[in-house]
Amino acid sequence: MTRIDVGILGATGMVGQQFIALLSRHPWFRVTWLGASERSAGKKYREAAAWRLSAPLPDDIANLEVQTAAPSKSAPQLVFSGLDAGVAGEIEKAFAEAGHTIVSNARNYRMEADVPLLIPEVNGDHLSLLNTQAARGWKGRIVTNPNCSTVVLSMALAPLRQFGLDKVTITTLQAISGAGYPGVASWDILGNVVPFIDGEEHKIETEPKKILGCVKNGVVEPHPVVISASTTRVAVHDGHTESISVGFEHRPTEHEMIHAWTSFKMLDGCPSAPAQPVVYLHERNRPQPSLDVNRGDGMTVSVGRLRVCPILDYKFIALGHNTIRGAAGVAILNAELMHREGLL
Ligand code: NAP
Repeated sequence: MTRIDVGILGATGMVGQQFIALLSRHPWFRVTWLGASERSAGKKYREAAAWRLSAPLPDDIANLEVQTAAPSKSAPQLVFSGLDAGVAGEIEKAFAEAGHTIVSNARNYRMEADVPLLIPEVNGDHLSLLNTQAARGWKGRIVTNPNCSTVVLSMALAPLRQFGLDKVTITTLQAISGAGYPGVASWDILGNVVPFIDGEEHKIETEPKKILGCVKNGVVEPHPVVISASTTRVAVHDGHTESISVGFEHRPTEHEMIHAWTSFKMLDGCPSAPAQPVVYLHERNRPQPSLDVNRGDGMTVSVGRLRVCPILDYKFIALGHNTIRGAAGVAILNAELMHREGLL
């Protein structure tokens, strides 16, 4: 099969690097174009980027010249975006207007009514919003993935929708790779917990309602679940851990909850889809980032420690890889779903 050329906006950042690592062995997509800021444009990628991953930087990518983040004839039709949100709005719009399909990690378009906010296993049908996006008159389009903590929470909650999700409280313990590079100063994070991540709690309280909602007549009806979030940054490299309590309309048994997670359906026909999107770990001290973050090549969400909550119904711990399942990996899965559905 001839591979499809793809570009990466924000290629030098934490998420951009994860795109490069994951796409280096991808059977359908081939990276041929890299874009970043004026600071990086014109340099070979190996000089522009501070490579932070344990996976080696592929030679062909290392020697690619980084381009200015603006549409051009050399940029492929399909472009992934790991751009800083401060600039993503205008740049992604320019690419969509010029006819590119943008599959974005940035927050800028996530909550727009005509933009899919996708986790393929959870709400792949929301791709139908692209029919209404056509009214913008763009030659291309924009598809987004959620905030990294939202992805983990939504994947833990989606299998439980059948019991009537009512109320959720969540406290996150988020890895430093979630803050980009160089991210949080070592002085602030070593031996410490930082109880504030700008804008994060609002995203976690709002994005899952769109993701878990239903599309009716071209519009998402948000899920009525009420979510209260507290977020913290901890000295962990990769992996967001989440302490979650849930109240239901129809309280299930523990067995029914575990069955709902472990039987949650995988996505057929997409190479990045893990065999098990959600696993339940029965050991009493799991999941842990250092042991469980790379399950399913970083695409599986691990859940454990299910127990009765004296305030809501149940409480449990969830863990997911923030730059793979929470960013580049889920974006690649979104593009695979679009390809499978004939939308590329
Ligand atoms: P990052 O490491 O700070 O990287 C930001 C990227 O944006 C770099 O490639 C940077 O290029 C580029 N950029 C900055 N200013 C630019 C400009 N004026 N014009 C063009 N490009 C510019 O950030 P990150 O952690 O990878 O996050 C990227 C995006 O993904 C953000 O929107 C973030 O919220 C989202 N996200 C991150 C995670 C995560 O776990 N890290 C998870 C989900 C979503 P230079 O190197 O040239 O400056």
